[in-house]
Amino acid sequence: MAFEGITLALSKGRIFEDTLPLLAAAGIAPIDDPEKSRKLIIDTNRPDVRLLIVRASDTPTYVQYGAADLGIAGKDVLIEHGGAGLYQPVDLQIAKCRMCVAVREGFDYAAAVQPGARIRVATKYIQMARDHFAQKGVHVDLIKLYGSMELAPLVGLADAIVDLVSSGGTLRANHLVEVEEIMAISSRLIVNQASLKMKHAILQPVIDAFAGAVK
Ligand code: ATP
Ligand code: MG
Repeated sequence: MAFEGITLALSKGRIFEDTLPLLAAAGIAPIDDPEKSRKLIIDTNRPDVRLLIVRASDTPTYVQYGAADLGIAGKDVLIEHGGAGLYQPVDLQIAKCRMCVAVREGFDYAAAVQPGARIRVATKYIQMARDHFAQKGVHVDLIKLYGSMELAPLVGLADAIVDLVSSGGTLRANHLVEVEEIMAISSRLIVNQASLKMKHAILQPVIDAFAGAVK
């Protein structure tokens, strides 16, 4: 039989950890720890609430199609996804970092981004990188990578990377420097618009509890 309650999609790791206090504020406690359990559907103390454990970049897709009623996703992921069909009521102020441009130490970035110049950029965040360099009037050849972006400038794959940075430790360890901040990033609560109407009585108090628990 179909699940009658509400389903929340979120990813393992920092988003799950930062979400636990918000769940607690809504009276929700997961039964299993997704870092230890292999289960992808996690029950909670509330029979009317369950969690889906998904890949971070898949969260908006589950919510968009209504496979989850709500979810928690980084602004980076939401921008790349496009956000179609998603209501984004709360900036949860968790998993904070920034989207940056970084280059090798000694690389003349100012010269490389003169209007009309052409630059080679490696990134997982194609949409954000394209928009950023378009705004500057710089031609950009984008190279899609799925991880370890820091490597690309070191081996001549790209002049620059667009990536998330928090402490900057990985950049420093690889002799890269941050030359531009594109935007501050945090995670948002996202809600399926049909669910918000159909399951309003159960969803709205959860949304309100999350909003009230934001620091
Ligand atoms: P995967 O690691 O599965 O390839 P991912 O990197 O998108 O995917 P996470 O590492 O769990 O997934 O990151 C989830 C979200 O946390 C990102 O979308 C981003 O908003 C935020 N984030 C990423 N890196 C950091 C960081 N170093 N510090 C704080 N928040 C971060
Ligand atoms: Mg990651």
